Amino acid sequence: MRKTLVLLAALLSSAVLFAQEPQQNEQPQQQAPPAPMMHRRPQLMPGQYLGFSGQTTVTPQGSYTPDFKIDGSKAKIKNVILLIGDGMGLGAVTSAMFANGNELTMTNLQTIGFVRTQSVSDFTTDSAASGTAWATGHKTNNGYVGVDPDGNRLTNIPEAIAPLGYACGVVSTDGLAGATPAAFYAHQSARGESAAIWGDIPGCSLIFLAAGSKKEFETLPLSTQDAIKGQYTVMYEPDADAVANAEKICYPAVNVGNGRGDWLPATTQMAIDFLKARTKKGFFLMVEGAHIDHEAHANKPTLVQETLDFDKAVETAVRFAEKDGHTLVIVSADHETGAVVVRKGNFEENSVEMTFASRGHSPMMVPLFAYGPGSKQFARVQENSDVSNLIRKILIGK
Ligand SMILES: [Zn+2]
Repeated sequence: MRKTLVLLAALLSSAVLFAQEPQQNEQPQQQAPPAPMMHRRPQLMPGQYLGFSGQTTVTPQGSYTPDFKIDGSKAKIKNVILLIGDGMGLGAVTSAMFANGNELTMTNLQTIGFVRTQSVSDFTTDSAASGTAWATGHKTNNGYVGVDPDGNRLTNIPEAIAPLGYACGVVSTDGLAGATPAAFYAHQSARGESAAIWGDIPGCSLIFLAAGSKKEFETLPLSTQDAIKGQYTVMYEPDADAVANAEKICYPAVNVGNGRGDWLPATTQMAIDFLKARTKKGFFLMVEGAHIDHEAHANKPTLVQETLDFDKAVETAVRFAEKDGHTLVIVSADHETGAVVVRKGNFEENSVEMTFASRGHSPMMVPLFAYGPGSKQFARVQENSDVSNLIRKILIGK
């Protein structure tokens, strides 16, 4: 009896507390829900997105911490490796870090900034407009690749620096005509025009292009295939002879999707070796982890595994930069996808739970991590276009 009384009193007091709290999302004519309630959730307005939650568990892969002797030093910067996690906002980085035993190579770096990603046409950017800002230093409309809002051609970093002797390349787990890699060689006002984007490869300033896919390449008009083959050694699988001897490589890989294994870090290493061997002047390499965005659009917690795969490519770049001493590494994203919120985690089980508040991109700032000589210049809140202009200025002074 006494227990029952205590329980009743507790229930009553929580009901009183609950009744006193303001009901922010409640419609005015609605009655308060019957008390007591143990779990409360905000009343959703019609059409309001409820959000999807997901949980994932990973096999931890560890991380790499470089020494920081060269970090922020005044040593000459010859090479820049820019790694873009497509859709990799703070939610993706945080969830991957927690699941991976609270460590990532990118979060081990000591220079941190934030990047605003808005485009000219939209408060929330797409990969085309943001890729163009990263590649050319100019903001443009969503859907535009390498051209300004009036359709005029913009000069990308490879076009600005290759004539001065720099070797340039891109690596991506997207298709080669995907918006992010395309922004570094193509000039088209419709990001969906894949064949036209592929058609911009001959004559572009890149000497190493690796992304998907063999299948896509083989469906291109024969004239486009022939034009690419006329200027590049085309390989579908890693070919040591081509990597050692070819002047230029176009590598539409057989598989850059599920089951690709360590394709991204391995191809990042291949690109670094290839570019470094082609010139003494220095090189620029853009590496994209494209599937973080794809998983987040589908509200799948496997964006964690994709972020971890991307972090292996970051490790490859950081290890090279540490040894080389003249390489700046920048890690960031083109935009956030999924409005990802980390809700729970368990370090013992390497698991994490997240909620997605969107199936699209969000306008939230994305994190930036930098390592190498001159890295401290990037420790600020800045526009994606600002980062691009600073990279160009560091390499060629303008
Ligand atoms: Zn997307």
